[in-house]
Amino acid sequence: MCGIIAYIGDKNCKDIIINGLKRLEYRGYDSAGIAILIPDNESDKDNTRNKIVVLKQAGKIKDLEESMKNLDFDSHIGIGHTRWATHGAPTQINAHPHTDCTGKIAVVHNGIIENYAEIKEELIKKGHKFISETDTEVLPHLLEEYNNGSPLEAMQKLLKKIKGSGAIVALNSDFPDEIIGARLASPLIVGVGRDGNFLASDIPAVLEHTRNFIIINDFETIRIKKDKVEIFDLDGKLIKRDPFKVNWSITSAEKSGYEDFMQKEIFEQPFGIKETMRGRLIDGDLLFEELNMTEDQIRNLNKIQIIACGTSSHAAMLGKQLIERWARIPVEVEVSSEYRYKNPIVEENCLFIAITQSGETIDTLAAIREAKSKGAKIVAITNVVGSTVARESDSVIYTHAGPEIGVCATKTFTAQIIVMYLMALYFGKVTGNLSKDQYEKIVEEIKFIPNKIQLILNDAEKIKKIADHIYKYRTFLFLGRIFGLPVALEGALKLKEISYIHAEGYAGGEMKHGPIALTDTNTTVVGIVPKDFVYEKMLSNIEEVKARHATILAIATEGDTEIQKYSNYTFYVPSSIEELYGILTIIPLQLLSYYIAKNLGRNVDQPRNLAKSVTVE
Ligand code: GLU
Repeated sequence: MCGIIAYIGDKNCKDIIINGLKRLEYRGYDSAGIAILIPDNESDKDNTRNKIVVLKQAGKIKDLEESMKNLDFDSHIGIGHTRWATHGAPTQINAHPHTDCTGKIAVVHNGIIENYAEIKEELIKKGHKFISETDTEVLPHLLEEYNNGSPLEAMQKLLKKIKGSGAIVALNSDFPDEIIGARLASPLIVGVGRDGNFLASDIPAVLEHTRNFIIINDFETIRIKKDKVEIFDLDGKLIKRDPFKVNWSITSAEKSGYEDFMQKEIFEQPFGIKETMRGRLIDGDLLFEELNMTEDQIRNLNKIQIIACGTSSHAAMLGKQLIERWARIPVEVEVSSEYRYKNPIVEENCLFIAITQSGETIDTLAAIREAKSKGAKIVAITNVVGSTVARESDSVIYTHAGPEIGVCATKTFTAQIIVMYLMALYFGKVTGNLSKDQYEKIVEEIKFIPNKIQLILNDAEKIKKIADHIYKYRTFLFLGRIFGLPVALEGALKLKEISYIHAEGYAGGEMKHGPIALTDTNTTVVGIVPKDFVYEKMLSNIEEVKARHATILAIATEGDTEIQKYSNYTFYVPSSIEELYGILTIIPLQLLSYYIAKNLGRNVDQPRNLAKSVTVE
């Protein structure tokens, strides 16, 4: 995820692009860059010798702005980008825009080019020179390769070649009165202005200049000139689409109309999950080159140790259940802050996995250093490319969920869980523990996760109504077993974090060894009760708390009417294989904590006392 902006018109583009990038900074903020078209020399008014100037900088937009402070230019056409790295560290060289061999074509891109490695190889064979580690750099070189006098046609050909996701915007100095764009599963909009036209990742970037917008759809290309906007399908056929008017304020537009970033991030999970799967699950094949391990090394593993903090540790617990079940490799989960001080035992043939959203969590970093000093090989799972944990690990698996602005983790948690599913499945396949049939069945089910999560989100109003009834309870107990236990822990953590209500997550069977004493008419018990192999056991646990007058909310599988005899409220998730209920049942709990917190008037994006990334002990 990143931010793109482009402008062509009567005004100087510099401020328009920089201000637009600042508005887009919430989408990505590890580096930024701009490409503008300026006449080679001022007397060259016939525009035949225009050249592209690229300026880019690691860091924030203000660093880019600072670097441009003394540059005085008059350019009316330019493109800008704020990056959220997916391929290659957030350095100046990897920052966008990227150019072709001639320096005549500059490209900015949002997304992931899944087949970039093979394209890069082909292009290198044809003599193209690459300087960055990004997937994006293949794009300007492809446009150069396809150049037949029409940048638009070159873009259409490119769109047929690439796999993955992308919003792409390109500038060509031989065509100084046009900017070309394309969309493949990443957002791109057109701002139709009076003194020029814009392309951008989202509306707030240009809302101060125009209120008239057109949305570009997948597999469409677009050509903007200062007084003309043309949209084409993949075969070059012109598509007619009128602009619509936007009346939002800039702040609500940044949140795409959602009330808060947390709500937006919950609702964008189906997309985020597809991004996490992209390039790893292709037509039933699992690719895990990033692991950097041979199949023999995987087969020789005696143990896996996963360390993490907070929400990431719940992803780790779910990962443990999955790996043990599908690959039969024993897994230990440890909290980083404990691990670092306990003089840990690092055994041979033990894989060490560290999970951290930010890649900067100080305790996880210290635990990695401790394990490394004892000879462990580290695999990191993180959302932030180039983060400290990523740099200090032997291999990295990026979750590709895009920047998460809300302090409490939602979409990054489900992205971590997806990595756990794919990794456990991969280990299960390599160790031979899963039969071909089992493997194929699980792959099919995993592919449907984004759609099933979308169905749950479509029912958000039902959870809101339940929250309206129960938000005044002061004690919440979340109960789950096996795959449901990490969900219960995460559900309780979400509620604590943003509503400040006391909540505990507990193993259903363990609850009678203590927490049941808390249960009375002031308690709500949230039971994670999908139709899995511990369903009957969970029903008994629910009975036990119901007998103590708790109010029961059951998260159950669609079609299960039996559960209603036990619960005061029931929310249904679509049916699935047992192992996948973990990811499906957490979605209603994220929504529940969100709506309860909103009812209590809390600031869900910035809850008190919490920081997004915990970089202190
Ligand atoms: N995959 C590209 C990169 O890593 C684009 C990332 C983005 O969307 O910001 O540079």
